[in-house]
Amino acid sequence: SKEYVIVGGGNAAGYAVRAFTEHGVEGSKICIVAKEKVPPYERPALTKAYLFPLDKSPARLPGFHTCVGIGKPRQTDEWYKEKGIEVLYDVAVTGLDVSAKTLSTSSGSSIQYNNLIIATGATAARLPKAIGGALQGVQYIRDVADADALVEALQKCKKLVVIGGGYIGMEVAAAATAWSIDTTMVFPEPHIMPRLFTPSIAEKYEELFRNKGVKFNKGVTVKEIVSKDGEKVSAVELSDGTVLDADTVVVGIGAKPAVGPFLESGLRMAEGGIEVDGLFRTSTPNIWAIGDVATFPLKIYNRTTRVEHVDHARKSAQHCVDSLLQVQQDPYDYLPYFYSRIFEHPGSERKVWWQFYGDNVGDVVEVGDFSPKYAAFWIQSGTLKGVFLESGSPEEFGAVAKLARQQPKLDAKKLQGASSVEHAI
Ligand code: FAD
Repeated sequence: SKEYVIVGGGNAAGYAVRAFTEHGVEGSKICIVAKEKVPPYERPALTKAYLFPLDKSPARLPGFHTCVGIGKPRQTDEWYKEKGIEVLYDVAVTGLDVSAKTLSTSSGSSIQYNNLIIATGATAARLPKAIGGALQGVQYIRDVADADALVEALQKCKKLVVIGGGYIGMEVAAAATAWSIDTTMVFPEPHIMPRLFTPSIAEKYEELFRNKGVKFNKGVTVKEIVSKDGEKVSAVELSDGTVLDADTVVVGIGAKPAVGPFLESGLRMAEGGIEVDGLFRTSTPNIWAIGDVATFPLKIYNRTTRVEHVDHARKSAQHCVDSLLQVQQDPYDYLPYFYSRIFEHPGSERKVWWQFYGDNVGDVVEVGDFSPKYAAFWIQSGTLKGVFLESGSPEEFGAVAKLARQQPKLDAKKLQGASSVEHAI
């Protein structure tokens, strides 16, 4: 049997392997079982530089997506080979027998483990087939195969409808402007990024989109994705009766933790994910879960949660391996953090990069002009809970992260008087 088996070949898996090698654990002790055909890579790129036209993005050069490792040795296929680490590509785990310590796989063979790390991430939520969710030209985006299909579609696309106003929808719509595609965003909420943005923050970003020609249909759901020939999408019909012509539809309506193969295993589940403790141990000995799929104690706010962001994928992987190898035994103490970047293609006069740290609860105080710099502070009962910063310097992003972590007492009135973001932080 294998000493350390990692199921899933995404961000968390890649960083778990890195952590093992940093502790001198490599070679045949480690085996990755990966459903995708490429080594772990930085997934966030798929809706950013990866979607720009080829001539506008070095990120689209071959090999870009095939590894994780920003600013570090890139973990290419050769890197895994050099380290003697086995990566089983194109193999999905289909079941787990915890008493026999065995995984069953799509290739028909089974894999025995001593220690198992589950890093299967999440899968894109789909629109029902009955309303056209599986028609040709309807694209979901979770992995590099999806992104390749979307890039192919964008090359011919004349009219794009993006369903969903979250960050995936925003990033795809922003990339489509680099292709000069007629783009409409559709979502049921009153504004974009509804889970984080206030109406006032949303308005600033929506204006950027409108300036680039992107249209919005807000407060509506999709009644049906229509096809003239019964195969390929031709339009999208909305709940208010509007019909939008479309040759391509991108659906970004959230993700679901990829727990399917483990549901019958006896592993305890929580909030749709696999329950773990502060060391990423599941309810069963010798099994850990990290990244998007894990429901973990969020120490700072004394509650449990699942986080679908890359920063957590990296940090949970590191923390899990460190504690598994007994390098440390402190519980994970994560500060929620999320970023997005849009309009970064060459020729774009306004690049957007925002970050959010902490918890978006309480009242919001906004500081600064949107251009060039802008911040928003969430304050609950006189305590700072969360900070949003647009276009900060690395030092400023570091400073707001520190503030969100410290949760200082803050007088909203005083903050309202701050003349600039620099002054406020
Ligand atoms: P994943 O990276 O999804 O990896 C899971 C891997 O497991 C996948 O390769 C999957 O194929 C494989 N797998 C699943 N089931 C099985 C199985 N049964 N057997 C074998 N393998 C299996 N986060 C941010 O913070 N900022 C961003 O800007 C941002 N942009 C994003 C853009 C896109 C398009 C997407 C999809 C996500 C983005 N995220 C972003 C979220 C971030 O990428 C994820 O939180 C992160 O990748 C999670 O890492 P993970 O390893 O848990 O899951």
